[in-house]
Amino acid sequence: MSHAPLTFAQWQEKAETLSINGQAFINGQYCDAASGETFECRSPIDGRTLASIASCQAEDAEQAVSVARQVFQAGDWSRMAPRKRKQVLLRFAQLMEDNLEELAVLETLDMGKPIGDSVGDDIPSSVNSIRWNAEAIDKIYDEVAPTSDSELGLVTREAIGVVAAIVPWNFPLNMACWKLGPALAAGNSVILKPSEKSPLTAIRVAELAKAAGIPDGVFQVLPGFGHTVGKALAEHMDVDCLAFTGSTKVAKQLMVYAGQSNMKRVWLEAGGKSPNIVFADADDLDAAAQMAALAIFYNQGEVCTAGSRLLVEESIYDEFLQKVLQHVDSWQPGNPLDPETTVGAIVDNIQLNTVMGYIEAGKQEGARLVAGGERIREETGGFYIAPTVFADVNNSMRIAQEEIFGPVLSVIPFKDEDDAMRIANETDYGLAASVWTSHLGKAHRCARNLRAGSVWVNTYHGGDMTAPFGGFKQSGNGRDKSLHAFDKYTELKATWISLG
Ligand code: NAD
Repeated sequence: MSHAPLTFAQWQEKAETLSINGQAFINGQYCDAASGETFECRSPIDGRTLASIASCQAEDAEQAVSVARQVFQAGDWSRMAPRKRKQVLLRFAQLMEDNLEELAVLETLDMGKPIGDSVGDDIPSSVNSIRWNAEAIDKIYDEVAPTSDSELGLVTREAIGVVAAIVPWNFPLNMACWKLGPALAAGNSVILKPSEKSPLTAIRVAELAKAAGIPDGVFQVLPGFGHTVGKALAEHMDVDCLAFTGSTKVAKQLMVYAGQSNMKRVWLEAGGKSPNIVFADADDLDAAAQMAALAIFYNQGEVCTAGSRLLVEESIYDEFLQKVLQHVDSWQPGNPLDPETTVGAIVDNIQLNTVMGYIEAGKQEGARLVAGGERIREETGGFYIAPTVFADVNNSMRIAQEEIFGPVLSVIPFKDEDDAMRIANETDYGLAASVWTSHLGKAHRCARNLRAGSVWVNTYHGGDMTAPFGGFKQSGNGRDKSLHAFDKYTELKATWISLG
């Protein structure tokens, strides 16, 4: 594979010549939904139809769960020596990497993100997630309890069984791989339900998993809608664990389904409304302003940890707002297949209307619109929104409280540290937060006081596979990434032996 960066024309050619599969992957084979039903997969770049996707339903879930259980019981994967699972998963990661450009085009066509992000970030991060967890699995030891001489206490972790992973559309393959990596490495059977808005890469990697040597039925993919196949998996009596990333609204529903069925483990990575807090004593306000723009506009603002609330100390408020506005132009949407593009298309018409609705709400609530605010590039047939900034936002406004999931920034002034902490924590969410200050004590105090799963100091969107990721409050429970992720996909067992 050539590693020279492709041009716009070359990416377009790849997009035109791609063959796209929209089938489900059950028991090691691509197949249609049992009902034969399909739905259209359209590209948000220009509205064109990409493929017909199998619309899986309860009967497909039934079949996939039954196969997943059988292979789990048979033990070909679940009882395989960890070092062997590692080798298979490393091959899987390698095959994904070998097909990097194809996966990147699929991701960009499917959900509209810039090709530069797909090829430089999303797909490499997905590969890394499989590889990191594969490499970890034969290095994790269990425990021996500190017993008396006449007893032996073993504290072991074992695979939980059948895992249903239900994922969103903003980082389709990457969010899937945050779950696939540890769940497969730990020996589980995994059924992946991608978002109906972005099923293509999930479908494609299924055959790569098989080619790598993952036994049939260990990794299956069920495309379809949340209220049909998603619900069927979540309510299923023989699914042991639901690993979800998506909205808080659906996350709550999944807890209900679990409670009404078999009390399956429910791990939820949900929404956010993260505060990015800039103190007057920050070392480099230019860097902070540049990062504030990236924090909200990267990936069209469709990021769970987007810095959607920018809290700025009153004494630098006007000056800092101007600095941020200088960066808005570098986040204007363009054709996602152009490697120069920094912001692509909004995932679909529904999401476009949601975001435009929030922009209208911001205006009506009296926030000051200082950039963007309109749909653009409509002539392309795709869905694009200009980077939008509201100044003088009050934290009680809807645009400060509700997750917009689009390129809309709310700038909020604060008086002092206490005021900043109060405003930052006045939210139902608790996914991430950032603090910009040169004062070491203040940085640590804020990091302690912020009710969020990730806190960044003098940066934004930092972290790699070594750092756990997840939410406080209504941003969810459990953690993706790092060795902590294995907790989600294993049960802890105590074996107590009398030595006589
Ligand atoms: P969503 O909740 O609408 O959908 C997520 C998934 O759930 C999809 O696959 C969908 O089909 C499925 N689903 C919907 N209804 C269901 C039901 N009744 N039963 C079972 N499954 C159902 O979210 P979305 O719009 O796809 O993604 C955006 C959301 O994801 C945002 O809130 C964002 O913050 C969140 N997100 C969170 C993280 C994180 O790690 N915390 C990361 C990325 C995205």
